[in-house]
Amino acid sequence: MKSGYVAIVGRPNSGKSTLLNNLLGHKVSITSPKPQTTRFSLEAVFEEERGQIVFIDTPGIFAHVEDPVSKKINPRAQASLNDDVNVIIYLVDHTRERSYEENKILGILRKIDKPKILVYNKIDIKEPSFIPHYRFMEEEFTKTISVSALYHQNLNYLIDAIFELLPERDLHIDIHERPTPALNMDSKTYIAEIIREKAYLFLRKEVPYTMIAVVDETQRRENGIMYIKARILTTQDRYKKMIIGDKGRMIKEIGMAARKELETASNQQIFLDLTVEVNPHWYEQLL
Ligand code: GDP
Ligand code: MG
Repeated sequence: MKSGYVAIVGRPNSGKSTLLNNLLGHKVSITSPKPQTTRFSLEAVFEEERGQIVFIDTPGIFAHVEDPVSKKINPRAQASLNDDVNVIIYLVDHTRERSYEENKILGILRKIDKPKILVYNKIDIKEPSFIPHYRFMEEEFTKTISVSALYHQNLNYLIDAIFELLPERDLHIDIHERPTPALNMDSKTYIAEIIREKAYLFLRKEVPYTMIAVVDETQRRENGIMYIKARILTTQDRYKKMIIGDKGRMIKEIGMAARKELETASNQQIFLDLTVEVNPHWYEQLL
């Protein structure tokens, strides 16, 4: 039997969540079992005859963030890549040009002495393609594979490549012991990070790194819907206005994107009650 931990990294929108969801389907549970150690990660177990792959999604840890919380936590999360992880998958969206973020990720990966697979995602899209701009990286990786996470193209090659690189051993993670599907109390930090990730995505240019999401409550209602109450905290009233947006459009969009992703990850219906609050000292409370 082979088994081990595989981290999926890549800048926002490269398709990490899509890849994870489509590799796993809903055959396995998704939980956040180690909120203290790898604060922003999610584990999902893939199991077949060859062994077990534990995928780790790390939303936000490589994002371009300057706020005090990320500055403190990202190095910790990155250190966990060094310790626990057996293989790293670097997902690249070839339809987008290389950027500051890509350079930053590459810089971090260079310092990690683990087998790495470079994966070009979205190959179902032919144009535009910036693959020639990424080619120079290939020699730094153990293997390069092209996939379409969305349309399940070549995902079997990726699984094969991972198994080749995993150590021979038995982890014995009993996937049946885990709550399925799982969005439990432990996953509050994961939910918060998904919300923050979406907020960054939509607010990219306007709002600087002055916000964080907190989840106050997760509760399964009698009608089967998972109720989540969360807040985005920011430092000033003008940022709050931007986060809410014209006629509430922005916060609606952020909430919708977060809800969709959480629904896919947990395979259950979610009601997300999301509000915005000014709290100039939010980061002091969280550190
Ligand atoms: P993440 O931020 O890295 O987790 O990226 P997501 O998984 O949320 O994907 C971002 C967007 O890219 C979504 O709209 C996906 O549907 C889309 N996407 C992901 N993989 C593919 C792919 O293989 N082909 C195409 N055409 N779109 C994809
Ligand atoms: Mg994601």
